[in-house]
Amino acid sequence: MSITPDKLDEMVRPNIQALAPYRSARDDFETGLLLDANENSYGSPFPEASGLNRYPHPIPKELRTRIAKWRDVEPEQVFTGVGSDEAIDLLIRIYCEPGKGSILTTPPTYGMYNVSAKIHNITVHEIPLTASFQVQTEAILEKARTERPSILFLCSPNNPTGNDLDRTQILKLIELFPGLVVVDEAYIDFSKQESMAPMVRQYPNLVVLQTFSKSFGLAGIRLGLAFAAPNVINWMLKVKSPYNINTLTARMALKAFDHMEMIRFHIAELRKERERVANALGKLVAVETVFPSQANFLLFRIRDAEQVWKTLTEQGIIIRYRGNEPGCTNCLRATIGLPDENDRLIRALQSITS
Ligand code: PMP
Repeated sequence: MSITPDKLDEMVRPNIQALAPYRSARDDFETGLLLDANENSYGSPFPEASGLNRYPHPIPKELRTRIAKWRDVEPEQVFTGVGSDEAIDLLIRIYCEPGKGSILTTPPTYGMYNVSAKIHNITVHEIPLTASFQVQTEAILEKARTERPSILFLCSPNNPTGNDLDRTQILKLIELFPGLVVVDEAYIDFSKQESMAPMVRQYPNLVVLQTFSKSFGLAGIRLGLAFAAPNVINWMLKVKSPYNINTLTARMALKAFDHMEMIRFHIAELRKERERVANALGKLVAVETVFPSQANFLLFRIRDAEQVWKTLTEQGIIIRYRGNEPGCTNCLRATIGLPDENDRLIRALQSITS
């Protein structure tokens, strides 16, 4: 049995529990002679911005409903944020008391869990992934018993390693971790695994993060999602800034659902390219390991990684050096590009290392 909703609510910071959230004009009235929000009644200054003199609704209702349908959850189980980074930040702000609270992460993993925690003066406990980049379930649970972190951040497929975390272990952690378990699924659409989002119906302490920045190809609109029990979502809505999702973002995101075929096509191509690039990298003598990836990038271990990275950069080919992270000595991470971009990367690596 996972932690109960009541126990979770007790973990919310007292000042947040006591907070009377800001009520924006559109919370109360949506139609009529709207002279309540100090907008500019003359309108926007140029035709392309028509309608943008008005504030958006505090929650983009139509988009929320569309997303809920797509991921098989209820609209009340969806939070829309300015990238999933906003959701990470909000969860830490809601459940961790600055100077006292803590979170648990499993490095090597996405850097923002750590940065967000540090911004709020929250301790970060770390239980590294194993050599095959899987969670150490017992060690995590032991740390949870001694340090009582409020939130466990898991990332699957994991950035920067690319692999899926073992689903059985994730489920065990959701059942036994005495706090919130965040499963960051930024790359889930590139994976063979199904999303865990519908499981928020069963587990009161599960938060699934997703984003429009990767498989949807819309990083520029800054739209991230959190799926969770309505209890958790309501705390997030209480703390978020009033109009976090702007009109243009909501419009573009809704439009994306009319183009799912193209999105699926891009995903399929990226997956094919991922396998092709993995094979090609594996043939280079300097490459020691290409780690199996279910994401839209590849992590690989290569001789003299830092020097190789520098030389690539000088040639205008920009990938990430990841050698400083636990378990990632001499590792580079490359996003899968278009076929000719990938060829350029492979050719450059070949000539640098031979
Ligand atoms: N989670 C992971 C694992 C990521 O790699 C990223 C972006 N690189 C994010 C979240 C943040 O995504 P967004 O653009 O939605 O803020």
